[in-house]
Amino acid sequence: MKVVGHFINGETCTPKGRMQEVFNPATGEAEKLVVLASKQTVNEAITCAENAFPAWRNTPASKRARVMFAFKALLEKHADDIVALIGAEHGKISHDAAGELQRGIENVEFACAAPQLLKGEHSKNVGPNIDAWSEYQPLGVVSGITPFNFPAMVPLWMFPLAIVCGNTFVLKPSERDPSCAIFLAKLLKEAGLPDGVFNVVNGDKEAVDCLLEDARIKAVSFVGSTPIAEYIYTQANANGKRCQALGGAKNHAIVMPDADIDNAVNQLLGAAFGSSGERCMALSVVLAVGDDIADIMVDKLQSAMTSLKVGAYEDASNDFGPLITLQHKEKVEGYISSAAEEGASILVDGRNPHVDGFENGFFLGATLIDKVTPKMASYQAEIFGPVLQVMRVKNMEEAMALIDEHEYGNGTCIFTRDGEAARYFSDHIQVGMVGINVPLPVPVSYHSFGGWKRSLFGDLHAYGPDGVRFYTKRKTITQRWPSSTIREGVSFSFPS
Ligand code: NAD
Repeated sequence: MKVVGHFINGETCTPKGRMQEVFNPATGEAEKLVVLASKQTVNEAITCAENAFPAWRNTPASKRARVMFAFKALLEKHADDIVALIGAEHGKISHDAAGELQRGIENVEFACAAPQLLKGEHSKNVGPNIDAWSEYQPLGVVSGITPFNFPAMVPLWMFPLAIVCGNTFVLKPSERDPSCAIFLAKLLKEAGLPDGVFNVVNGDKEAVDCLLEDARIKAVSFVGSTPIAEYIYTQANANGKRCQALGGAKNHAIVMPDADIDNAVNQLLGAAFGSSGERCMALSVVLAVGDDIADIMVDKLQSAMTSLKVGAYEDASNDFGPLITLQHKEKVEGYISSAAEEGASILVDGRNPHVDGFENGFFLGATLIDKVTPKMASYQAEIFGPVLQVMRVKNMEEAMALIDEHEYGNGTCIFTRDGEAARYFSDHIQVGMVGINVPLPVPVSYHSFGGWKRSLFGDLHAYGPDGVRFYTKRKTITQRWPSSTIREGVSFSFPS
């Protein structure tokens, strides 16, 4: 069986030790093994990153950016290979994986602007013959810990920017789809990145805890579920590290009575069921304002859902693929059962779909649940599956109150033709990323990505301008050179 190891100091390695199976979720079979890094392996990766830092830090930003230009070209050249790797381990359909990769590449494009992004601020004559400037210096060795659901895009949110800012990097990808990160590391080497600047350690909690405890790691970027995000943030802070930890979500869409209902239904289908709902920006709850619009919308959703196709990644005519593991599929099925037990109506039940030739895959069909109420366990939890829940509310205020009261605040969207309502909604809603007739408002690479409430622990969002701030520390220098004309005497008062 193929063994997936690590990438340390410019080389792949597969040291002996604990291993875990990597499944093809479409066949349900373990097709690979991933090596789970020991403390010794993580130490080695950090040491290599630490050794590579001084030279990389002093490499001109334009030269660092040139590596990213070459990396972008290689990502485009090998796009089909990356899409296939994602499909085989994550299970997402090729068109969806290609979209993920494209959004990742856009972060590389942003990183190519390093010389411009790292230009500091300069003030001349802040005092007699005194000039001052602020510059952005790298932190040192920084680390990224990433989830299974975007094996290419989420690592690409982190390391291109961290690296062009002059840091060196240790990435710990999800052990459930570990190959993509290794492939990206090889491309970076081919693009001309010096050995040791980017390292990948595959592993689980043991590897993560080593990264959190090692004083040489200066900052941690995490993306994953909320309980782990909170743990990472608390531990990283206790160990004196800078940390941004992005967590889970429960994204609501409001459908107003004046919405273009056919458009809203199309957008909801893609945003709820794309990638089997395994997206932190998936729309998983729709709040229909008024029973009339709810009934029309539910009818249209139900009839559109009959034609949705779940299947394996190779067939691009499929709409979405399997869930990541059997355990996760059973967990999602459990939420569907609990909703029924608590009194919701299961209008479309995706349990036990038949996928020809893939009978053992972790498939779950699109599921629609109506008459959901706030106390239901399935409403409170992030389901992370192809399940859309419908709630009926009287007005926009009631809808907004539900969104604001929810533990998560990642993304949300309103479907309406009313500019005043949309403006009020975007201004007041307690959510970090808002769409107006845009179902998945994932910010472009030159903005930054982050939720509110328990969807993000930390101050700075991921990538974009916040990413530059996260991966650099500001230094401000005030300078005076001896002058032949100005002589100052001793002063004991505060300089002004
Ligand atoms: P996860 O929290 O289980 O794992 C994320 C990472 O943490 C992995 O690398 C994993 O190895 C590590 N990890 C897991 N358990 C750990 C532990 N006990 N101690 C230390 N490290 C541990 O998340 P997942 O299932 O891989 O990904 C899905 C979750 O990620 C969902 O909740 C989703 O909403 C979230 N997510 C959030 C965003 C965002 O931007 N907010 C983006 C993508 C995914």
